Amino acid sequence: MHVQMHVGAVCLPYVSIPLRKKMEKWRVFSIFIFFLYFPQVLLVQLHASEEYARQAPRPIIVNTGHHDRSESDPQQVHISLVGKDYMRVSFVTSDKQVPSTVEYGKTPGSYEASATGEHTQYTLFTYTSGKIHHVVIGPLEPRTTYYYRCGGSGPEFSFRTPTSTLPIEFAVAGDLGQTEWTASTLAHIGAMDYDVLLLPGDLSYADLLQHRWDSFGRIVEPYASKRPWMVTHGNHDVESILSYPEAFKAYNARWPMPYQQSGSTSNLYYSFDVVGTHIIMLGSYTDFDPESDQYKWLFADLAKVDRSVTPWLIALLHTPWYNTNKAHKGSGESMRKAMEEMLYKARVDVVYAGHVHAYERFTRVYDKKEDPCGPVYVTIGDGGNREGLAMSYEKPSPSISLYREPSFGHGRLRIVNNTHAYWSWHRNNESDSNVGDELWLESLSSSSACVQTSNGQESPSKFVNDEL
Ligand code: FE
Ligand code: MN
Repeated sequence: MHVQMHVGAVCLPYVSIPLRKKMEKWRVFSIFIFFLYFPQVLLVQLHASEEYARQAPRPIIVNTGHHDRSESDPQQVHISLVGKDYMRVSFVTSDKQVPSTVEYGKTPGSYEASATGEHTQYTLFTYTSGKIHHVVIGPLEPRTTYYYRCGGSGPEFSFRTPTSTLPIEFAVAGDLGQTEWTASTLAHIGAMDYDVLLLPGDLSYADLLQHRWDSFGRIVEPYASKRPWMVTHGNHDVESILSYPEAFKAYNARWPMPYQQSGSTSNLYYSFDVVGTHIIMLGSYTDFDPESDQYKWLFADLAKVDRSVTPWLIALLHTPWYNTNKAHKGSGESMRKAMEEMLYKARVDVVYAGHVHAYERFTRVYDKKEDPCGPVYVTIGDGGNREGLAMSYEKPSPSISLYREPSFGHGRLRIVNNTHAYWSWHRNNESDSNVGDELWLESLSSSSACVQTSNGQESPSKFVNDEL
């Protein structure tokens, strides 16, 4: 371990032998105490042991609280889609007496409707969370701005519901964390309009330090209180160690997603529909083998997809199945082997992953080979976390990898109509962002070459050209 090596290498030239022995004991003891109280350091060090060079990360920003908010005021407000025409409003209050209510309406300051939801709280080591409220409101009208207030007092927020007719625009950002790069990515996301944000895992990088979840909630609030944020988990959201085996405690308490509505039994994988698009959120850090609940749920979920209603089929997961970066090479292989065929046969259009802190886009792929009926794979783990960028790639670039760049940024998927969508990747510049990669996609549901015939046999394929 790095820390041990460092402490062990300290030179003590002027100290007597017995005193040295005593100091040695203290050193061992202090290392033990250090890891007892800061187990996340051990995790971070283990994580960092995968060797690759990364561009200098930017400083961590920690938002410790709002000076203009009282104990009873809501903080960390974020919203998520929950079934058709409903929204879940999530917020935290320090004051435990605050009711789990949300008042809302279409005019600022005048709330014609209100709803009461549920609340939770959790403890982890010496940390006790605030009161975490989740309130489902609706039915709501499409593409409409609603003004809302949480817990009966405090500041007014507003959000806009997604459109009910195409086009629709998704912002996609993975591995966000909370650094100055994160702030830059968020500013660029907020500067251009979008309907729904999709996050393929690794949210706060709390790594067991729970106040970092609170800080993350405050940092994303200006964006996540305005547009629904739909997330799946990454390895940094697991937060399980030997002395504390209950995984996903903070993630599940703070970021509940509409899993019941999609027939899933776990917040770790679910799906949802939003105009013309069926989106599947998979879990890389929960069971995915053919005997698992996730596998069976995915099979059933894909069987229910009606491409005449949702011509677009998108999947998100954390650990990429296709990756030519040296970082996390092969990490997604067991999940790919278990689930790739299901996604291929369902004619999934695009699979987004995070985990590798860089951007990469593949051609349509199945079973490691170019295939006109396979999904386009995109790695977008470049949101801005404290670990920095994954700089080194396999050389030469395999032919299935079409674009790769280790820069921070975010993506945009604009579903224009039933057949065409425009994907763009925007790298962060100092004060603005610019397009690094772009691509017109044609939905596989509209491809006569890939659509399956009624007897389940595929018709002979011809090449589908997605390039600009
Ligand atoms: Fe990550
Ligand atoms: Mn990760």
